[in-house]
Amino acid sequence: MADKRDYYEVLGTPRDASADDLKKAYRKLAVKYHPDKNPGDKSAEEKFKEVSEAYDVLSDDQKRAAYDRYGHQAFSGGMGGPGGAAGGGFHDPFDIFREVFGGGGGGGIFETFFGGGGGNGGRQRRDGPQRGSDLRYGMEITLEEAAHGCEREIEYERLNSCKSCHGSGSNSGSGRKSCPTCGGVGQVISSRGFFQIQQTCPDCGGSGEVVSDPCRACSGTGKARERTKVRVKVPAGIEDGSRLRSSGNGDHGSKGGPPGDLYIVVHIRAHDVFEREGDDLHCQMPLSFATAALGGEITVPTLEGKANLKVPSGTQNGTTFRLRGKGVKVLGEDRHGDLYVHVQIAVPTKLTSEQRAHLEAFAASFGEAHSSGMEESFFEKAKKFFR
Ligand SMILES: [Zn+2]
Ligand SMILES: [Zn+2]
Repeated sequence: MADKRDYYEVLGTPRDASADDLKKAYRKLAVKYHPDKNPGDKSAEEKFKEVSEAYDVLSDDQKRAAYDRYGHQAFSGGMGGPGGAAGGGFHDPFDIFREVFGGGGGGGIFETFFGGGGGNGGRQRRDGPQRGSDLRYGMEITLEEAAHGCEREIEYERLNSCKSCHGSGSNSGSGRKSCPTCGGVGQVISSRGFFQIQQTCPDCGGSGEVVSDPCRACSGTGKARERTKVRVKVPAGIEDGSRLRSSGNGDHGSKGGPPGDLYIVVHIRAHDVFEREGDDLHCQMPLSFATAALGGEITVPTLEGKANLKVPSGTQNGTTFRLRGKGVKVLGEDRHGDLYVHVQIAVPTKLTSEQRAHLEAFAASFGEAHSSGMEESFFEKAKKFFR
């Protein structure tokens, strides 16, 4: 411990340096000695560890106070120094690094410094081109439109580059300055108890730059909401809840990044007559008592208009008839689903005296019990319940 250099000396800062100054000093040195920049250079690696260790202590208020009072003794672990309270001795400074900067995997913040040496390119996230956001638009269409396909013009809002400042965000075009909040780094470090967490700077959104004289129209963002229209082609046979992608019609990207996409989520309104089940349609069809008994041809609705349906004599309530190919077009195929017609025998609620007389005569023709013959067989089966 005796040969350990003073932490302030390591960072080259005065003892009363502000947290900001410490950070700046540290960043400069960390960049200078980072192993990625000095491959195989043992002394650079040692320096890097030293710098990391110094900053780890001095950037933490608690640890810094302990260091100021007790020097390196505070962290010598096992010696019972007050440093024990602050977490004890040291681990590998590379571990600390990841902890402090929340890098997760290797690389961490250094990609930001070095311009994306690593795989997932921190730098790209910071000030490279950014793709615009995807947008979602809910569109309601009728069942007919879903079945036949349709074309619609929709109007929506998206972020476009501001017309007043041509996307620069600056009123006079004088440009940008380093963000004062994060010192141009794009990240701020906040303490949560013992740990320090690195977060994207709220003021510059991680870019490290802010506009020096913000455009009034867009408050310096360089972006403005804009109402725009786009034509949407809905293919025949589309299902409820389907998403259509309108490529490139989302928010505009930043710094030359591509725009996002617009997703149109299709909702099919409930239909008065038809219920859809996949490519098939179902409908309830009232059928007169007389037609049900005598048989005949009736007209049923379809999405294309009308169709004729032959009803055999003696058709019972709830009978289902299938009309092949009268359902919804199958998406992307040259065929249609079927239409199922569920008949419901309609019992007349009002009768003229003449109709009444006919019906009474009809009933009497079955004998005493106004029976149609079906009732007998029913009572035969149900006898055991009535005993
Ligand atoms: Zn503007
Ligand atoms: Zn910032």
